Amino acid sequence: MVELQAITSNGTQTVLSQEALEEFKGSLRGQLILPEDDGYDEARTLWNAQIDKHPALIARCAGVSDVIGSVKFARANNLLVAVRGGGHSFPGNSVCEGGLMIDLSQMKGVRVDPSNRTARAEPGVNWGEFDRETQAFGLATTGGTLTNTGIAGLTLGGGIGWLCRKFGLSVDNLLSVDMVTAEGEFLKASATENEELFWGLRGGGGNFGIVTSFEYKVHPVGTILGGMLIHPMENAREVLTFFHKFATGAPDELMMGAAMLTSPEGAPVVVIIVCYNGSIETGEQVLKPLREFGNPIADLIAPVPYSHVQSLLDDGFLPGRRNYIKTNFMDVIDDDAASVLMERFESVPSPYSAVALFQLGGAVARVGKEETAFYHRDKGYHMFLASVWEDAADDEKNFRWARETWSAMQRFSSDGVYVNEMGDEQDGLDRIKEAYGPRTYERLVALKNKYDPTNFFHLNPNIKPTAG
Ligand SMILES: Cc1cc2nc3c(=O)[nH]c(=O)nc-3n(C[C@H](O)[C@H](O)[C@H](O)COP(=O)(O)OP(=O)(O)OC[C@H]3O[C@@H](n4cnc5c(N)ncnc54)[C@H](O)[C@@H]3O)c2cc1C
Repeated sequence: MVELQAITSNGTQTVLSQEALEEFKGSLRGQLILPEDDGYDEARTLWNAQIDKHPALIARCAGVSDVIGSVKFARANNLLVAVRGGGHSFPGNSVCEGGLMIDLSQMKGVRVDPSNRTARAEPGVNWGEFDRETQAFGLATTGGTLTNTGIAGLTLGGGIGWLCRKFGLSVDNLLSVDMVTAEGEFLKASATENEELFWGLRGGGGNFGIVTSFEYKVHPVGTILGGMLIHPMENAREVLTFFHKFATGAPDELMMGAAMLTSPEGAPVVVIIVCYNGSIETGEQVLKPLREFGNPIADLIAPVPYSHVQSLLDDGFLPGRRNYIKTNFMDVIDDDAASVLMERFESVPSPYSAVALFQLGGAVARVGKEETAFYHRDKGYHMFLASVWEDAADDEKNFRWARETWSAMQRFSSDGVYVNEMGDEQDGLDRIKEAYGPRTYERLVALKNKYDPTNFFHLNPNIKPTAG
C-alpha cells in the first residue's frame, strides 16, 4: 500500500499516508478497497449506470464497529464521504469522486420477531431480501414497488410501496433505529429516545447520521389479489381517466399504479398494476369494475403471494442501464393530463422508458403532515417519469424527453416533490425546501445544526446547517 491522493469535504486535495491507510485497513472487520484492488469497480458501481464516480477508498463495512471507525477516519482526515445502502440513489448520492465511500451493502442481517410482529434489518438489505425473511412468517411491512431497492435510503426518505394505503409509508412502520453520528458516536432513536431525531429520520433522508439498524412493525400479509391489466396505448386516455375515478373511491386495501410503457414485444401499452391486500372474495368484488372496463389485451390479476407483486416491475428497472428521472405529485388525472401524457409518449426515444402514476392516500394521508418529516401526505398520486436507455451516445435525447415531458405536465402537478426521487433538482435549495415542506425544512435545519453542524453528510437532498 502506498500513499493515496483523496478529496476533502470542501473539495480540496489531500494525501493519505501509507501508515494511516494501513492502520485503517487493520482496524476493519470488513474490507478496505482501493482503486488497484480486485472488486473496486464492482464496489463503486451503483444501480444507475449513468453514475461513474471513483472514490479514493471504499470501506466495505461488516458491522457497526466498522461504520464508527470509518466515520472517525473520515473526520480525522477531513474526507469527503458518501454512504451506500442499497445503491439505488438516482443521482448517485451513495458514491463520490475522490472521497471515502462507506459501503454498507454487505450488512445483510434480518431478524424477525413473529410474536411481537417486529423485524430488525441492517442497512445493506434490499426489499426482496427483507420480504423473503418476513414472508416466512406470513408478515410484511410497506417497502417499495420493486425487490432490489435498498431498505435504507428508501425508508429514510419516506417509502411508498404496495402496502402503504393500508399500513402507511415505510417511515410510519419504523419503530426505532440504531445510528452512528457525524462524530462517530452510537445512539438509538425511537418514539421514546432521541424523539426529535427520530421525527427527522422519518423523511429527512441520510442527513443526520448512518443508520445501522432499522426496526419495523410488520403485519400479517399472505396471499393477495394482484397483478396487472394491459390495455393498448390508443385507449390510454379513457383508461387513465377511469383509473382516476376508480382510485378516488378505492378502499385502503387496494393500492394501484398506472404506467405507460413499451411491452417486451415492442408495443406501447398502458398497464394498471394492482395489489389488493384483504380477503380475496372482497377483492374480486372491489376490482370487478376495473377489470370489466374497456378491452384489455390481458388481465393478469390473480391470487398470488405478496412477493409476486413486489417483483412485477423488476424487469423494467434492471441495474446497469442509464437512468434520468423527473417526478412530481398530482391530484387529478383528467382528459387533458392523460392526452398530454399520450402525446408525449408518442415521441419516447427508448423502449425502456416509462411514466408511472402511483396512488397515494389511505393510511398515508391519515398521519399528520408534521408527525414525521415526510410532509406530502395529502397528495393523490406520485408521478414518476423515467428515461431509461443503454448507450451513452443517446444521453442528450433521453434527458430532453424527460425534461420536456415533465414541463408539459407541470400545469397538472401539485406542489412538492418526493425527496427519494429527486434527480438533478436536488441541487436547488428552493426545490429541496419544497421536497421537505416549509415548516418541516426549518425544523430539520435545527436538527442538522445539532447532529451535523459541519454538514459531514451532504451527499443527499441536503438540509443545510446554519450553525457550522
Ligand atoms: C428502480 C428504482 C425503484 C424505486 N422504487 C421506489 C418505490 O417504489 N418507492 C419509493 O419510496 N422509492 C423508490 N425508489 C427511490 C428510492 O427510495 C431511493 O432511490 C432510495 O434512496 C434508495 O435507497 P438505497 O438504500 O437503495 O440507495 P443508496 O443509493 O444506497 O442511498 C440513497 C441515499 O440514502 C443514503 N443512505 C443510504 N443508506 C443509509 C444509511 N444506512 N444511513 C443513512 N443514510 C443512508 C445515501 O447516502 C444516499 O444519500 C426507487 C428507486 C429506484 C432506482
